[in-house]
Amino acid sequence: MQPTPGFVSRPSRVMVKLSGEILAGSAGFGVDLDVADRLVGALCGIAETGTGVAVVLGGGNFFRGRQRGEAVDRLRADFMGMLGTVINGLALEGAMERAGKSCLLTSAIPVRGVVREWDVREADRALSEGSVVLCAGGTGNPYLTTDTASALRAVQLRCGLLLKGTKVDGVYSGDPDTDPEARRFDRISYDRFLRMNLRVMDAAAVAICRDESLPVVVFDIVSDPEAIARAVTDPEKMGTLILGGD
Ligand code: UDP
Repeated sequence: MQPTPGFVSRPSRVMVKLSGEILAGSAGFGVDLDVADRLVGALCGIAETGTGVAVVLGGGNFFRGRQRGEAVDRLRADFMGMLGTVINGLALEGAMERAGKSCLLTSAIPVRGVVREWDVREADRALSEGSVVLCAGGTGNPYLTTDTASALRAVQLRCGLLLKGTKVDGVYSGDPDTDPEARRFDRISYDRFLRMNLRVMDAAAVAICRDESLPVVVFDIVSDPEAIARAVTDPEKMGTLILGGD
């Protein structure tokens, strides 16, 4: 594959978006602490090479506002989802501590006495000092998702690459679970992704990345948490790269 014009292959900082389903492991709900330990090993391996690592945690292993059913109203459901991301943050923070690594856990939703409130300057400083920054609480706003939070925090922290770890190995033209004709893209432009109304990442998140020219790699992290390290060193060989115009 030809190198993509304008693509910085070794960014000094990266943002990793971890969906809640990764942390759930095979149970499909809650947090699998062995998975947390493996993820932390991979994240710290990247940080040890001198690359700044920030992480946005999903919360779908606890609650998703869009899939709430009739019993809960949307605002409350979204708050439940965002608080789920704080639980995931605490699990990763614990794994960091077990591994003897330095990290800063922050939340966009204040949970006083439990986690520090998001502060972009503090997070920026922590990254510069080599700590891994864990961002929980999404954006702090209902009706949004942690994909959007990851794009937002990535640009606020001047990350050069957004790594979207998920259960599929890239961006497909349709749903690979139900559409046998669906094919995987090696690369796709932001605008084409948005025009095709693809679902693997939120449109709002992709629009932020497009406006700030932030490359995104969508890759399979569920079958191999260590794949994060390869996505940093060799993003063009992993899953799908979202970048550029038509
Ligand atoms: N959420 C929200 N605002 C945000 C981020 C998340 O309201 O800025 C809520 C929303 O209900 C969402 C849930 O938190 O469904 C969990 O986040 P997400 O679905 O993005 O998690 P993932 O699918 O990545 O695990």
